[in-house]
Amino acid sequence: MKPFDYRSATNAATAVRDVAASPAATFLAGGTNLVDHLKLGVIEPDLLVDITAVTSDAIEDRDGGLWIGAGVRNSDLAADPRVRQRYPALTQALLSGASGQLRNMATTGGNPLQRTRCVYFQDVTTPCNKRDPGSGCSAIGGYTRYHAILGASEHCVATHPSDMAVALSALDAKVHVLTADGERSFPFVDLHRLPGEMPDKDTRLQHGDLITAIELPSSPMAGRSRYRKVRDRASYAFALVSVAAALDVADGVVRDVRIALGGVAHTPWRAYKAEQVLRGKPAEVAAYRQAAEAELAGARALDGIDGGNGFKIPLVTRALVAVLRELS
Ligand SMILES: Cc1cc2nc3c(=O)[nH]c(=O)nc-3n(C[C@H](O)[C@H](O)[C@H](O)COP(=O)(O)OP(=O)(O)OC[C@H]3O[C@@H](n4cnc5c(N)ncnc54)[C@H](O)[C@@H]3O)c2cc1C
Ligand code: SF4
Repeated sequence: MKPFDYRSATNAATAVRDVAASPAATFLAGGTNLVDHLKLGVIEPDLLVDITAVTSDAIEDRDGGLWIGAGVRNSDLAADPRVRQRYPALTQALLSGASGQLRNMATTGGNPLQRTRCVYFQDVTTPCNKRDPGSGCSAIGGYTRYHAILGASEHCVATHPSDMAVALSALDAKVHVLTADGERSFPFVDLHRLPGEMPDKDTRLQHGDLITAIELPSSPMAGRSRYRKVRDRASYAFALVSVAAALDVADGVVRDVRIALGGVAHTPWRAYKAEQVLRGKPAEVAAYRQAAEAELAGARALDGIDGGNGFKIPLVTRALVAVLRELS
């Protein structure tokens, strides 16, 4: 591992300035993803700025919704009675991720910023455009089981790994950020970006931008929300596909709906097309299937030495139909 400096931040604005000032500096939160990458040589920072003391670990009621400090640990967030009651999909997503020990360390700010689990990204001996821009993509024609079927590019076919982020996308969360120029906030669905020609950039954050909080808006519909994760093992495995959904049904008709998919794209994938198909339709399996098919019309399976990932297309349909049936 390359030697680096370590600084424990005592002030959020200074932490932002310190990281923004050096392209090879980075924030350290729970460290559960970052430290793995240091050991593997995936990243070689010259400075780690520990943000534990400058990110809030409070969950506050605000305007009928919840304000979640970036330092709140995943275990505490999952267990919070307000989250469990008002946003059950978020609790279910958090509890489906990693292990108890990891969730005790992982933070609200760090979880959505964890990097892809693409095996080639983590293996520094292989070409990877995300790790080393312009070197190529080893996953294309390689192992593709965990890779994208939506929104991929010829430069990168990786998927985003966070379960929590899929739930936050469906729940219309907002991200609050401290930048070198001040504070800003934007919809969580705009945090991540598709790979295009620049797969090395996972998000729309500028270097040095610090996530300070995630805001969950007031939403009666979110009380009827659910997260389902399909994976190779019952625990300690990333999603092959996952679905987060919230549903509002009146007199057998879908009044409103939110859907996000995991394991299918470089971002948590908000399923706007499926939502559009469902509004005003009978809350029935035929409509749920039609909605899934509309969303997946642009899906492209990858060929690979492991047989490819075409199985994900029917798997998403089945998982989405199952979740919507449970909610209706
Ligand atoms: C064995 C294993 C299994 C796992 N399984 C799952 C799983 O099934 N599902 C799942 O979702 N996750 C899983 N994870 C990933 C785990 O959830 C993440 O590593 C964790 O959530 C990252 O949070 P952290 O606080 O430790 O971030 P760190 O590792 O400290 O940081 C991650 C990244 O975010 C940046 N960062 C952190 N906080 C901020 C902030 N406030 N503002 C700006 N940048 C910030 C850091 O600079 C770094 O680039 C697994 C991890 C392991 C090791
Ligand atoms: S899919 Fe993306 S992360 Fe994986 S090898 Fe290709 S460029 Fe790298």
